[in-house]
Parts: sequence; C-alpha cells; structure tokens
Amino acid sequence: GAALGIKEQAVRYLVMMTSLEESVRVFLPTWSASPPLRLYMSAWDHNGEGRPKKLGKPDKVHALPEIVWWDTLGELCCSCDRGRLMEEAPCVLKLAPAALSESWSSTAELPTQESLGRGARVEQVGADATGSFFAVADNLGGPPGPRRRMVFCSSKGGWYCEGKRDGCPSLMDCSHVSAAKAALRLDEGGVSVADQMILRLSEPLSMAALSWLEAWNGELPKIGVCPAVGTSRAQGGGDAGLSEEERYLVGLLERRPHEQATCAGDSCF
Ligand SMILES: [Zn+2]
Ligand SMILES: [Zn+2]
Ligand SMILES: [Zn+2]
Repeated sequence: GAALGIKEQAVRYLVMMTSLEESVRVFLPTWSASPPLRLYMSAWDHNGEGRPKKLGKPDKVHALPEIVWWDTLGELCCSCDRGRLMEEAPCVLKLAPAALSESWSSTAELPTQESLGRGARVEQVGADATGSFFAVADNLGGPPGPRRRMVFCSSKGGWYCEGKRDGCPSLMDCSHVSAAKAALRLDEGGVSVADQMILRLSEPLSMAALSWLEAWNGELPKIGVCPAVGTSRAQGGGDAGLSEEERYLVGLLERRPHEQATCAGDSCF
C-alpha cells in the first residue's frame, strides 16, 4: 500500500510501547527530572509503512537506541538520521514523546544545561542475549550542553560506539567506551539501569497522547509555548487530518465500538 503518514506511524509506535515483548522499547533515564527531558527509544525505519528496528549492533534491521531530548530552546531533538538531517521534518521518535508530553510541555520552564546534565554519567539502556546498551554523557560543562552517546557491548565482549560515525576512533577505545568500561568495573552499586516505559492504552496518559496525535496539525510543540488554536496548516497538507483508515485505527486504540466484520478477534484492541 501507499506509504503511511508520519502520524499513523507515530500512533503505531505508541501502541507498540504497550508490551514488554514488542520490538519497540522506550527507556526512562535514571535520576532524571520529572517529567523526563529525554527518552531512549527503539529506532524506527520511516520507509514505506514504517517499522521498528530491533535493538542490536547496527545493520539493516538492528540499531542502537536513539536519544530524544528537549533542548534549552524548548525544542525536541533526536539522534536519528531523519531527526538530525531534516530538523523541520518530524520523525516518529519526536512525535511519540511530543504526544506523551502534551499535558505539561506548553506550561513548563525551559530546560537548563544543568537540568539536562542531571542523571547518571553512564547508564544501561536495555540488554538482551546479544549484549548490553549504554548511554554515556559527554560535554557536561561546555556549550551547547550535555550530549549523550550510545555504546554497545556484545555478549562476547566486543565494544561499539555510535560516535564512530563522526569521529570516535575505531581501533582503540574512545572516551565513551572507556567511561562505560570504568563504570562497569566499579564494584559498589554497579551501573545505573534505565527502566523500560510501558504504556497502558486505558490510562489517561495514553488516551490523551492518542487524542493529541489525532488532532496534530503538523507542528512540533515547544516547551513554554502555547500551541496556536484554530490555525490550521491542514489545507492540503500531507499528514494533516487523519485519513479514514487512520481514524479507524485510532478508534480501535481507544476501544471505540466497531463492527464484528472488522474485529481482529483475540489480537484486537
Ligand atoms: Zn528521530
Ligand atoms: Zn565514542
Ligand atoms: Zn475488535
């Protein structure tokens, strides 16, 4: 079928956050501000209908978790290619936290370098049979503020830093791998572990996030900025306004009654 809109892909992402078993995994940083100013999220392939990438050393179907955060200007940033290269084009990974932040983002204070730097210097972000993932903070004091890098340690002990794409050395340990190794060597307490965030569709947070996505007009929210009401960029815009199919999907998610013929049975919402 035709490529699904970014909005419907974001709805699917939220739905995939409802199960521990799903291939979409989202992690809350340890000791972070509340509400959280960043999330670690399973990567998403935006091509075609869109699909999640499993956690793993990067290849066609695997990727390290991406990092999505609010910056000191109150804007959402994302480490994924789409988020970095096309700032104006929202990615699914920005849209999902935008939807989950709808209750507080317009009225909150702007994040500071200090609040963005809060938390563990090294934290584990998921682990499975293939290895463990770590987020390593960097540049805590300098402009433009804290940065985090994802690092992977395979179960066989091989290390990989995503910074290899832009500057981390490939033949010796970069500062991120060294920091992760040092954190793991500490006997006391060990390394902090980020909790996985599981959504329950019946909870107000999820309902509000889905309604927000349904009404989304194509503009990403900013912290401290009230969204313009009634101004619709919708006219003729690709994603603006849900298609019938999208409306139906959102309806299913909200457990609206639907016809027997369209019920998917056991796996149905
Ligand atoms: Zn992104
Ligand atoms: Zn590195
Ligand atoms: Zn049904």
